[in-house]
Formats: sequence, structure tokens, C-alpha cells
Amino acid sequence: MTRLTRRQFTLGLFATSAVAAVGGVGLALSPADRTVIIGAGPAGAQAALALRAAHPTLRVALLERDPTRLAREASDAAAAAFTAPRTEATLAQLKAQGIEVMLDDVVDVDWTAGRLSLFSGRDAAFDRLYLAPGTSARPEAIEGLDAEARYTMPAAWGNPREARRLAAQLAALPEAGHVVLRLPADLSHPQVALNRALVLSRHLAATRPAARLTVLDATPTPALAQSFAMAKRLQGLDAQVAWVTAAQGATVRAVDAHAGRIETDAGRLTADVINFVPPHVAGTIARTAGLVDASGWCPCDARSRSMLRSEAIVLGDARKGAARTLDGARLSVTAATDAKA
Ligand SMILES: Cc1cc2nc3c(=O)[nH]c(=O)nc-3n(C[C@H](O)[C@H](O)[C@H](O)COP(=O)(O)OP(=O)(O)OC[C@H]3O[C@@H](n4cnc5c(N)ncnc54)[C@H](O)[C@@H]3O)c2cc1C
Repeated sequence: MTRLTRRQFTLGLFATSAVAAVGGVGLALSPADRTVIIGAGPAGAQAALALRAAHPTLRVALLERDPTRLAREASDAAAAAFTAPRTEATLAQLKAQGIEVMLDDVVDVDWTAGRLSLFSGRDAAFDRLYLAPGTSARPEAIEGLDAEARYTMPAAWGNPREARRLAAQLAALPEAGHVVLRLPADLSHPQVALNRALVLSRHLAATRPAARLTVLDATPTPALAQSFAMAKRLQGLDAQVAWVTAAQGATVRAVDAHAGRIETDAGRLTADVINFVPPHVAGTIARTAGLVDASGWCPCDARSRSMLRSEAIVLGDARKGAARTLDGARLSVTAATDAKA
């Protein structure tokens, strides 16, 4: 079986830009301030490095709950096609810059006292807080969509275990099998979704020419369908793909994960592998910290300052209207660390 590689995955969709990490100037920080950043994804790690570069005496702490986010190993090549990119900075590089890296889950923010409560029972003081918590899945009221169904129909949307599960399910797909990719109406990362559809198509074309992919695209416009059709043509992809739009009935009403069944407005589908992508909102700690509006995202100004709490800075994917790509994350850091506070 041909394995999916990271290179195949990124092919042609996420233009790599030359946006550089910028050491910020002029932040209203006193030299002895303790700056804490929640989240060591691409946005949080870059912010830590930029702040240290711009303010060498500043105490910078980076809090991350998932140690694999700072790990270097390439792990399973097939699963890599379904994982989110990590920061390019290594743990050693961060530490060499004098950044304190703490492995813990932030469970609460006390803005008045300037303290974070951590899952371990510890707490952490801050003078200035940056939040780069990424996204979390929003629960949906769909019949049959319980924890077991979410396990059986992995989203593989940033969770490495789910990425491995999806890769394993694809490896076991029958020759003429059926794969369904479900995309919700309020899709958080359109470019990632487009890439996912192409990755799955390439996989089927290369390993199971008799198999087919159905994309249930509940987004309100045909934009994604059109981009996919164009990319498929340009890449000369010879896969059997049915793209069902919202207007054609892509909305999912019920699932029976055990039987591989999905009930949609267009009727019932049965599949061997279901990549069920839920809607996402800002990472949970952003809501706990009072930075999320009714949309589920963090409204921010052009300099990444929260519009709900001016002392908070929100970076990366958690921002309302963010591009939700690596370049989008980098630009939010540049805007925040360049800002004259
Ligand atoms: C499957 C997938 C593939 C993608 N592929 C590409 C690609 O090829 N190219 C591209 O440009 N973009 C890609 N993206 C988008 C890109 O990954 C994101 O835009 C980028 O990672 C956003 O960075 P971030 O730092 O804001 O959030 P994240 O990368 O999500 O990092 C957030 C971090 O915060 C941590 N965290 C959250 N809450 C807490 C807490 N309470 N306490 C402690 N830590 C916490 C999380 O563990 C996580 O490590 C992909 C996204 C996905 C889901």
C-alpha cells in the first residue's frame, strides 16, 4: 500500500510564506514582568521566542498540556497525513532561550489576582497573559453521535491518536470500499478540509482504485466543492469522488457508527471508513477566561488584543475570523508582538 507522506499532504495547498518571527518592540512590559503563554502550538511557541528576543530580561513561561506537541519524532508516516503541524521550535531551543516550559493543563484564569489554576493542583502567576489554545470540538446534537461513535468515526483534526486510528482504518479498507468525509456547516479550517479531501482522494487513487469517497459538505456555499474540483483536475487525480453539498442534502441527521450508517437529508449512506469532522470553537480555556463571544471564537483587534478583555492577547486559531493556517498563526504573533501597547 502506498503510504501517505507529509509532503503529499501539504502539496499545493498551504503556500509556505516567508513571514518571519518578529521580535516585538514597545510592549508595555516592565523588565521583571512574568509573561505567561498558554499553548505551545505554532502561535504560542513563536510568541515566546519573539517576546524573549525583544525583551531579554522578561520572564517568559510557556504552558502546554500535551508533551507530544513539543516532541520531534516523525511517528507513523501514514498518520502524519492527518495530524496538525507542530511548532518548528524544539523544547531544547525554547529552553536555550531561557523560556520556562511547563507541562500542565490550565483549568482557570483569575484575572484579578493574575493567577492561573493548573490541573496538577499548582498555580502560576502572571503579569501579562497570552492565550494560544487553538480549537476544541463543539458538541453536536446528532442522534447516535456518542463517545463510541466519535471513537469509531475519528475526526483526526489535531488529535494524534485519532490520526493513527484513521490511517489504520484506511489501511484495512476493502478494495471497493467506501470512505465518507463529513464536513460540518460551520467548518473551522476550510483549507485543512480541502486538503483532507485531496489526501483521501490521492490515497484511494493510489491504493484502492475501485474504492470511492463521498464528501458530505454542509458548508453554506459551493466554494469548497469548486476548489476541490479545480485541484483534482489540476493534480490529475483519478479517484471516484462524490461531493454532496448542503443544497444537495449533506446535512447529517443521525449516525449508527457500529453499522457504518449515516442518515442525511439526501438519504442513507453506508461506509467502511467515516472521517467525521465536527464543528470547532476556540480552545476551552478561552471560554473559561471570558474571551469568547456567542460565535464560540475570541473577537480581537488587529493587534490580537481581546475585544472582551483588553489586557488579554489571543493568538492563532482561537481568534474569531482567523485564517487558521500556520501563516495566520504567525501573522497574529507578529501583530501582537509588534504592537505598541
Ligand atoms: C489536521 C490538521 C492539519 C493541518 N495542516 C496544516 C498545514 O499543513 N499547513 C497549515 O498552514 N496549517 C495546517 N493546519 C492548521 C494549523 O495547524 C493551525 O492553524 C495552527 O496549528 C494554529 O496554531 P495555534 O498555536 O493557534 O493552535 P494549536 O496548534 O492548536 O496549538 C494550541 C496548543 O495549545 C494547547 N492548549 C490548549 N488549551 C490548553 C490549556 N488549557 N492548557 C495548556 N495547553 C493548552 C494545546 O495542547 C495545543 O498544543 C492544520 C490543522 C489541522 C487540524
